[in-house]
Amino acid sequence: MRKTTFLTQLSDIEIIIKKCQTCHVAMVDLLGKPYLLPFNFGYANGVVYLHSDFKGKKIDILKKNPSVCINFTTDHELFRQHDKVACSYGMAYRSVLVYGDVEFIEGFDEKVDALNIFMKQYVDRDFTYSKPSVDNVCVYKVVIKDFQGKIYHHETLE
Ligand SMILES: Cc1cc2nc3c(=O)[nH]c(=O)nc-3n(C[C@H](O)[C@H](O)[C@H](O)COP(=O)(O)OP(=O)(O)OC[C@H]3O[C@@H](n4cnc5c(N)ncnc54)[C@H](O)[C@@H]3O)c2cc1C
Repeated sequence: MRKTTFLTQLSDIEIIIKKCQTCHVAMVDLLGKPYLLPFNFGYANGVVYLHSDFKGKKIDILKKNPSVCINFTTDHELFRQHDKVACSYGMAYRSVLVYGDVEFIEGFDEKVDALNIFMKQYVDRDFTYSKPSVDNVCVYKVVIKDFQGKIYHHETLE
């Protein structure tokens, strides 16, 4: 039996976000077309942190239209009921969508705080940062305004 569970608590979606290595950030480009990019990220207290170069298509877009939808997925697992029946195969997953607006972070101390949160997603240690390295990276955040979480699995995986 395939089961879908929808998550309504921030604490539940945080568990999924914390397990992810990457996210996909969807935006609407200057011509009204979709543009989606994979990113590394940090997360803390309802805020997603991103970083990049100061230039590029995404920055041009986000400066004009900061509205984004970000997807996080983890625990992908192929399941099947019958080896020879294609339609009995499925992919279990845990997935989160969050919505918000990109806000560029300008101050040195706030950038360092964001970079520390970012690094904590990947490495369990503290870092120090030189002023040039902080000045040379564009750091931005998305305060989560809305979210949806979904777990899809098969009872044989429980
Ligand atoms: C796992 C992963 C993690 C990443 N993490 C980060 C991150 O934390 N920060 C970051 O800045 N970038 C990250 N990247 C790269 C990111 O996805 C973009 O490629 C990069 O940021 C450049 O985007 P841009 O809009 O500035 O494109 P531009 O440099 O302006 O590129 C021009 C053109 O290249 C094409 N293009 C751009 N990116 C991609 C892409 N990913 N795949 C295919 N075509 C593309 C587009 O058509 C675009 O019009 C990551 C990529 C991967 C796969």
